Amino acid sequence: MGLRIYNSLTNQTDEFVPIEDGEVSMYNCGPTVYDYFHIGNARTFLIADVIRRYLEYKGYQVKFVQNFTDIDNKIINRANEKGVSASQLSKKYIDAYFEDSQKLGIRSADVHPKATDHIPEMIQLIQQMIDKEIAYEVDGDVYYRIHKFSDYGKLSNRKPEDLLSGARVDIDKRKENPRDFDLWKSVKPNEPSWSCPWGCGRPGWHIECSAMAMKHLGESIDIHAGGQDLQFPHHENEIAQSEVLTGKTFARYWIHTAFLRISGNRMGKSEQNFIYVRDALKDYPAETIRHFLISAHYRSPLDYNEASLSDSNSAVRRLYNCLSRISSYSEFADSGIDVGGSEIAHTTSAMMTSFESAMDEDFNTALAVGEIYKLVGHVNRFLTQEQEQLMEADRVALGVAYQSLTKVCMVLGIYTELESTTNRNTLLVNQLMELVIDIRKDSRARKDWVTADKVRDWLHEAGIELQDTPSGTNWKWKGN
Ligand code: AMP
Ligand code: ZN
Repeated sequence: MGLRIYNSLTNQTDEFVPIEDGEVSMYNCGPTVYDYFHIGNARTFLIADVIRRYLEYKGYQVKFVQNFTDIDNKIINRANEKGVSASQLSKKYIDAYFEDSQKLGIRSADVHPKATDHIPEMIQLIQQMIDKEIAYEVDGDVYYRIHKFSDYGKLSNRKPEDLLSGARVDIDKRKENPRDFDLWKSVKPNEPSWSCPWGCGRPGWHIECSAMAMKHLGESIDIHAGGQDLQFPHHENEIAQSEVLTGKTFARYWIHTAFLRISGNRMGKSEQNFIYVRDALKDYPAETIRHFLISAHYRSPLDYNEASLSDSNSAVRRLYNCLSRISSYSEFADSGIDVGGSEIAHTTSAMMTSFESAMDEDFNTALAVGEIYKLVGHVNRFLTQEQEQLMEADRVALGVAYQSLTKVCMVLGIYTELESTTNRNTLLVNQLMELVIDIRKDSRARKDWVTADKVRDWLHEAGIELQDTPSGTNWKWKGN
């Protein structure tokens, strides 16, 4: 089955057909760099990352562009508050974005354009619009005449005449129509500015993304993504600006991520209820946060709470324990031995099929994760029951299960390139902990309390806590 994507433009799930066979151009609206990014932003960035990884998994050559909005009101205000320049402020948070996103296993885009590096391209687009009377200038400000674009409202399903109903809009008497939006803002005191044919000033937010997307991906792109709050007006205006000039479809598939919420409300800077990614990373390992963020389908809201994070933490540990138990069989995977009759082989191939079906149906990561854990549970049960008399075919099947699991986990970013190297240490720690827990269990069975206590004290010093439960002893790092 082919890939299907819920397209906000058509309001339905459409078969994915890229413009160029085997290639995908994808643009994701990146952060406004006036602060560290929070877990809500991270959901949208991570989903774009997973979509990109899955497209690559399917064999597409993907060109992925994610911008930095490094000039806008929030940046200017924050820079003025702090007594630094807008460029100093944005540089600090661009560096922080790379640091935090890398820790979270979000791959860098192929291009990370900055708005301020594309001012000439924006001026050129605006000039073309002025020349075609799509835009007009008043006292150095330039506005887009929305009645010049008959398709205005097609993404957000708003008719131009509905756009004002119920909304509070500052009536700017200089605008021909209150719904016209700004393409360029004339220079103000304490604001950075660039010169242009109609005076000095700075670009509006929407023209930034049109200019950067078209410069790096061309006039028509396959996929444009962002959080659901960007659908209107940001993405609607991007379409209006780009399509009115090119006459071509700007983006064929529009993907919008639902909000990460906290206590039922959208997590956001203006709501003051956000958790920075860098703070969350002090409390939870990166793979736990990633696991949590993909545990719901991207179009469903997701609630951030301790219980969900703790569930994700246990799930990731279960996955890693399973991987550690079967990693040594990986070398048998390519032996060519027939494993047709093996139950593990059968479950593995069923997992791969179901994983792909789930991802093919609008990137349903929630279902895809479920399929992975079905196999993890199966492997764990198999090892508990059968470990004594493993046949050659079982070893091969476990090796194939290991390779298949790591492959799909890499797509979801719950087992990344980063971990495939550092994970060797995690696997080793897991294996050693199993051994230590066994030694303690044996000592207790022999009533050798001195050794048993010594083990517990030594682990305590190493920052590890043991929890004895009816089903066995678990361990965790203190504070996790
Ligand atoms: P910003 O830095 O505000 O420009 O936002 C960067 C990206 O994060 C945009 O695509 C937003 O739509 C997205 N975003 C902001 N808040 C949330 C949230 N609570 N949940 C999911 N995505 C969000
Ligand atoms: Zn944008």
